[in-house]
Amino acid sequence: IGRSRGTDYFGIGEELTAEERDYWNRARHFVDDEVLPVINEAWEEAEFPRALAERMGELGLVGDGIVGYGCPPMSPMAVGLVHMELNRGDGSLGTFLGVQAGLAMQSIAMLGSQEQKEQWLPRMARVEALGAFALTEPEHGSDSVSLETTARREGEEWVLDGRKKWIGNGSIADVVVVWARDTGDGQVKGFLVEPPTPGWTAEKMTGKGSLRAVWQAEITLDGVRVPEANRLPGAGSFKDTARVLAGTRNAVAWGALGHATAAYDIAITYAGERTQFGRPLASFQIVQERLVRMLAEVCSMQLYCLRLARLIEQERLTDTIAAIAKMNNTRRAREVLAEARDLLGGNGILLDFHVMRHMADIEALHTYEGTETIQTLIVGRDITGIGAFA
Ligand code: FAD
Repeated sequence: IGRSRGTDYFGIGEELTAEERDYWNRARHFVDDEVLPVINEAWEEAEFPRALAERMGELGLVGDGIVGYGCPPMSPMAVGLVHMELNRGDGSLGTFLGVQAGLAMQSIAMLGSQEQKEQWLPRMARVEALGAFALTEPEHGSDSVSLETTARREGEEWVLDGRKKWIGNGSIADVVVVWARDTGDGQVKGFLVEPPTPGWTAEKMTGKGSLRAVWQAEITLDGVRVPEANRLPGAGSFKDTARVLAGTRNAVAWGALGHATAAYDIAITYAGERTQFGRPLASFQIVQERLVRMLAEVCSMQLYCLRLARLIEQERLTDTIAAIAKMNNTRRAREVLAEARDLLGGNGILLDFHVMRHMADIEALHTYEGTETIQTLIVGRDITGIGAFA
């Protein structure tokens, strides 16, 4: 089958610098040579492949564009390409990167003190220390702004009480950014908790049908004490938490592109090889039409991502733009994956063919970092001037 351009029909590759191309190649080889051969087993066994996460650190893929502090020098485009490639391989590793770099490291880089940055960022970039970001609670997901975990000041310490749910790396992290409401001024603040510590319990969540190769935890904080030096000085209200999330929504848009690219690659290869009625599937008009629609969706997602990178370079990314991109790309990726699953017939549901894993995993991307509906409401507020959240 002629696949002269792969999925790059709009010349995205021509937009890249040599350094960006290098990040892309490094991530691509890592995925093809080290991730794809082992990931289905990890997914099936619900094992977190920590050695692969550490390799990402060794390969200099973890840093999210943070400048200095031992982080690899990555442009917004390089950050996006790495997210895309990892998710093309596997959503669990992509999610690990999102939590480690996009959420935990960025919280420290954007809102932390000099000492906090020096203490944590170099080790986290090398994946010698694992990070987590604990915002969601059992009773507050989409309305995390109403979180109930409290932080009470006692002299030079803070006492944290509450519960968290869905916290990526939560049971294995060396440092967890915990968001809690200051009982003094009522504002949401961020604290670096270093487990194990008295009053902290983190239980790995089980029974997931999506992102099985990365772990989330339910966490209970029962009088957990942290020194004032562990409070993020730049986190004064929920607005600061939201600033961290705008960046990670950009990463999810790139990740969704990776999932859709995998779906298209797998489907077009399969359609060329599988013969029915004496002809390859790819020779049927209906199959071609479906493959072309998939490609068109992938290309439109690429164009969103290209512009996201450029807008971040120019410091022009807004909540609304990040929300449109996250909403659009996860929705498109779901559609492309459903097409690919169908084009593989029965094999489409076998893990060996990879599509089913991506199809299950995209469901989590569609929900986390703010559901599709919540992204829609963010955009709806912008275009109408009317908030429709509550
Ligand atoms: P709910 O908020 O209960 O939403 C349920 C449904 O109601 C959704 O369809 C939603 O769109 C809809 N809905 C809600 N409000 C409205 C409204 N006003 N109007 C219309 N519809 C509405 N959180 C962290 O803090 N750290 C993490 O590391 C983390 N990792 C995660 C990993 C995974 C795999 C998953 C699944 C979640 C993770 N989360 C994490 C939590 C995630 O951000 C939340 O699941 C998400 O924000 C949705 O919250 P919820 O699950 O409570 O759903």
